[in-house]
Amino acid sequence: MRYEEAPDLKERMNEIVKTLEMDHINLDRVECLRGKGSSSRRTIARCHALGKLLQKAMKTEAFYAIEFLERFEKMSREDQDKVIIHELMHIPKTFGGGFRQHDFVCEKNVEILYRRYFKLKTGEVHAVPETPIEEERIVAAIPERPNLFYFWR
Ligand SMILES: [Zn+2]
Repeated sequence: MRYEEAPDLKERMNEIVKTLEMDHINLDRVECLRGKGSSSRRTIARCHALGKLLQKAMKTEAFYAIEFLERFEKMSREDQDKVIIHELMHIPKTFGGGFRQHDFVCEKNVEILYRRYFKLKTGEVHAVPETPIEEERIVAAIPERPNLFYFWR
């Protein structure tokens, strides 16, 4: 594997984090890299973390690195944004060096956040006819907390 820094992807990630107000994510301690030469054709991206043991040993805080593989480059910009959102969702609210699992980081939740992002960016509701998720349904599903901070708790 060869790794290259990906400042362009970091910039897009910053934009998503700020727009969706994912305030638990310390952007100074998340980095984006492109990985080349992976044997895995199916993997698009991976979220890596500096775990608790290494944090203790190195006397440092948690750090996350998102690795984007070659398949990512061939995707549409919309799908790429969804991948970035997916990987960001693996980072837990504690920002402690662990991960949130795929029961939470699932297609439905990624879709909800992507639509939220799209709406905040463009001021328009994203229309995807095959899997319509109405804004009211999202709110109805989360009666106590009609905003997306729900997802970071
Ligand atoms: Zn994942």
